[in-house]
Amino acid sequence: MAREIVLWPHKVLTTATQPVTDFGPALEKLMSEMLAAVQEAKGIGIAANQLGEPLRMALVGREDGTFFEIINPRILERSEQITLEEGCLSVPDEWEKTPRYKKVKVRYQDKAQQWHEVEAEGRLAHVLQHEIDHLDGHVFVELLSGLKRSLIQERMKKYQKFLKRKKD
Ligand SMILES: [Zn+2]
Repeated sequence: MAREIVLWPHKVLTTATQPVTDFGPALEKLMSEMLAAVQEAKGIGIAANQLGEPLRMALVGREDGTFFEIINPRILERSEQITLEEGCLSVPDEWEKTPRYKKVKVRYQDKAQQWHEVEAEGRLAHVLQHEIDHLDGHVFVELLSGLKRSLIQERMKKYQKFLKRKKD
C-alpha cells in the first residue's frame, strides 16, 4: 500500500517547502513513493509535502497518464484569469470553482538537475498552478470565499474524526 496522503488542514501543507539541494537516492525514493501514492489515489498531481516531506518537488500528470517531476519550480508568467473546477487529494471529495490562470510559464529542474522552461495552458497549466501552490504552502481552499472555506473545514473535521474512529 502506498504512503498515506496528508489531509488539510495540516502544518506541512500550510508551510512553504524547502528547495531541493540533494539530488541523491533519497530524492529518487521519495519520487517513486509519490508516484505510487498519486496513482493509487487516481490523482493527476502530487506535491512532496502531501506525503509529509517539506521539499520543493512535485509530480505533474500528463494527458497520457504519465507523470513528470518538477523540482524547485517557479512560475515566471501568468496570463488570462479564469475559474476552474478544482479538487485536491488532501481535501477529498471537495470540488469548487477556483480562480486560476489559463496560461503559465514555469521554470523547474528535473531529477538530473537540468533546468527546463515550459509554457503550458489548459489542464497542464492548471495542475502546475495547483502543485506549485502546494509547495508554497497553499491549498486551493484558500482561494475560495470565506464561507465555502469554513464549510469545507467543517466537513474535513468530521471526515478526520470518522477516519480516526475507523482506525481505533
Ligand atoms: Zn492538491
